[in-house]
Amino acid sequence: MIKQVKFLAGIYAANTYVVFDDESKDAIIIDLGGDHRDIEEYIINNKLNLKALLLTHGHADHIAGVPFIKKDTNVDVYIHEDDVELLEDASKNFSSSMAMGPIEFSPDFTFKDGDILNFGTIKVKVVSTPGHTKGSVLFITDVGAFTGDTLFRQSIGRSDLYGGNEVEIMNSLRNIVMSLPDDMECFPGHGPKTSIGYEKNHNMFLK
Ligand SMILES: [Zn+2]
Ligand SMILES: [Zn+2]
Repeated sequence: MIKQVKFLAGIYAANTYVVFDDESKDAIIIDLGGDHRDIEEYIINNKLNLKALLLTHGHADHIAGVPFIKKDTNVDVYIHEDDVELLEDASKNFSSSMAMGPIEFSPDFTFKDGDILNFGTIKVKVVSTPGHTKGSVLFITDVGAFTGDTLFRQSIGRSDLYGGNEVEIMNSLRNIVMSLPDDMECFPGHGPKTSIGYEKNHNMFLK
């Protein structure tokens, strides 16, 4: 069975998720804003096979731990092709003006809308959701959708930062709400989990 566990990682306490199969022990990490040692410890203590680290987008509060876990584990790092420029430029990912200091690196692999990625027994479908950044995505898995900074419980991501676009984020949100089932659980980049159905009824930005 595929499961997820959430960590509040880094000084900005963005949600980092470990998604794993409790039978095969295959695992992936979604975003990593810091505290790489806590995540590495969890992986080791639970005897998980770490297969990949996927990024919902390229902002500092979601990526600050990546160079450190990369050094320790050499895990493959994936991001949407349109957010590579954020990873490679500390001013575009805002780390240069945030408390963690400049973070710059290149991904090992990129993905695009509609890609289906298989990491052992863990399957991830990529849905492009531009608007918060150009390369923001949703990851659809067997436990639910990881929505990054596009959709939060009763809120949505901001669209006034580099690469953001208000019209695009509203289009992305409409597509999400129309295409995904009401009972699908959603795991945002900040704050508590929610579901598509709950957001349809309670998110004023989606009315
Ligand atoms: Zn963000
Ligand atoms: Zn964020």
